[in-house]
Amino acid sequence: MNINLEQIRKDFPILQELVHGKPLVYFDNAATTHKPRVVIDAVAEVYEKYNSNIHRGVHHLSNVCTQAHENARIKVQQFINAKHCHEVIFTRGTTESINLVASSFADTFLQAGDEILVSQLEHHSNIVPWQLIEKRKGIKLRYIPINEAGELILDNINDLINSKTKLVSIAHISNALGTINPIKEIIEIAHAKDVPVMIDGAQAIQHVAVDVQQLDCDFYAFSGHKLYGPTGIGVLYGKEEWLNKMEPYQGGGEMIKTVSFEGTTYNELPFKFEAGTPDFSGSVGLAAAIDYLQTIGLDKIDQYEHELMDYAMSKLEAIPNIRFIGTAKNKTSVISFLIGDIHPFDMGTMLDKMGIAVRTGHHCAQPVMQHFDIPGTIRASFSFYNTKEEIDKLAEGIIRIAQLFG
Ligand code: PMP
Repeated sequence: MNINLEQIRKDFPILQELVHGKPLVYFDNAATTHKPRVVIDAVAEVYEKYNSNIHRGVHHLSNVCTQAHENARIKVQQFINAKHCHEVIFTRGTTESINLVASSFADTFLQAGDEILVSQLEHHSNIVPWQLIEKRKGIKLRYIPINEAGELILDNINDLINSKTKLVSIAHISNALGTINPIKEIIEIAHAKDVPVMIDGAQAIQHVAVDVQQLDCDFYAFSGHKLYGPTGIGVLYGKEEWLNKMEPYQGGGEMIKTVSFEGTTYNELPFKFEAGTPDFSGSVGLAAAIDYLQTIGLDKIDQYEHELMDYAMSKLEAIPNIRFIGTAKNKTSVISFLIGDIHPFDMGTMLDKMGIAVRTGHHCAQPVMQHFDIPGTIRASFSFYNTKEEIDKLAEGIIRIAQLFG
C-alpha cells in the first residue's frame, strides 16, 4: 500500500520553489498545508467561469455558483459522515467555528456558575473564546491537566465533568505536541452525564478519517487551509438538535427568513449560522481538496505519515542534546523538540537559510509551554508530500547548527 510520491510532489506547484536558492523543505504543515494544482484550478475556475453571488439568484451564473457551493457542502457531509448536509456550517475556519459555538451555546444555555471543560493541551482558539464567555456570563472554565508525556490525565474526569458542566471542548489532536486524545472515550464519559462535546479537529481532519456519527460528537470544527484547501473557509459540524436550539451567531443577510422593525425571524439550518455572502470560492476549493485526498486515500496518507514520523524520530533521536517535548504513546506527525540551550528562534532562522521551514515558539499553546516550563519549541510537522530525504536534510541541518553553537 504505497503512495505515488513522485506524482504527488508534482501535484503541488509550490514544492518546486527554491528558498534562499535551496529546494524548499516544508515541515510547517501543522500551521498550514500547501495546495495541489486541482485546488488552485478549482478556485480560479469559480472566478473565471461562474462567479456570482449565491442563493436567491434568478440568473444562470448565480444558479451555477449556488449549486457548486451546495455541492461542496454535500462533499463535506459525506467526508465526515454527517447525517444531514444542513449540519455542515461553513465558517472562516476552526477559530470562527469555536467562537460560534462558544457565543451561541452561551447565549442559549449558559448561566453564571456553569462550567465548561477544556484541556491544558488546547490551542488558544479553544481557550480564549471560553474565557470571553467566562467574563460575559460568569461561568467557570476548567481544564483536564496533562502529564510529562503530554497526554491528558483522565483520573479525575468524573470530578471535572460534574453536574455544573455544560459542555466539554477538546482537541482531537494537539498542534503543539501531536498527541492524539482519546476523544471517543471522553465523549462516552460526557454523554453518560448528558454533557455535549465539541471537538477541535484542526489537526486531525488532514491525518485521520473522521466519522462524526461514529464518534457521536455534538460539534466538530476544522479549517480548510490545513486540509490542503483554501484559506478563509472552515467547517462547523453540529448535531441538528443543538444547532436548531442555539441562538444565531451573527446577524445579516442570508441568516433571516423575514425582517421587520417589529421583529425578525431566522432562516433554517445551515443558513441561520451563515450571515452574509459565503466564501463560495473557498467551499469549491475545499471540495476539490477533499476529492484530491480521497483519490490518494486517507488510509494510505495516514500510513505513510506514520512511516515518516517513525523515520524522523529515528534520525532525530540520534542527535546529541535533543529533548523531545511531547512523547505521547498515541501521536501523529508532529515532533516538538529543543536542542541543548539553543533558542528555538535561532534554530528556526538558521534552518530557514538552508531552505528548511519549521515553526518555532509557543504554537498558540502557551499553557502547554508553561506546563513544560519552556518558552517554546522547534516543531517539525509532516505531510504525505514530504520525503525521507527531506528528513535527512533536517537532521543534518540541526547537527550543523548545533556544532556552530558549540
Ligand atoms: N485548533 C488547533 C488545534 C489548531 O492547530 C489551530 C491552528 N493552528 C486552530 C485551532 C486554529 O485554526 P485556524 O487558525 O485555521 O482558525
